[in-house]
Amino acid sequence: MDCRKVREVVFLYTDNEMEAELLISFREHMDRCPGCARAINRTERLLWLVRRRCSREQAPKRLRDRILTSFPHRQKPL
Ligand SMILES: [Zn+2]
Repeated sequence: MDCRKVREVVFLYTDNEMEAELLISFREHMDRCPGCARAINRTERLLWLVRRRCSREQAPKRLRDRILTSFPHRQKPL
């Protein structure tokens, strides 16, 4: 899995809808890519806050888009 793929599937992860196989490679990427790991942490925190404030299960689409576009590009070569 690369950074782009991580960005594509991050909401499966935060929504707990990721298949086991995908989850494994996702976590592997988190282990070796500090940039993505940080971004995921931030995303999870944000979504947690949003969910606490909203009665809905999922973050509003606009917020999702904003979080996604704030994702850093790979910060240094692997
Ligand atoms: Zn990455």
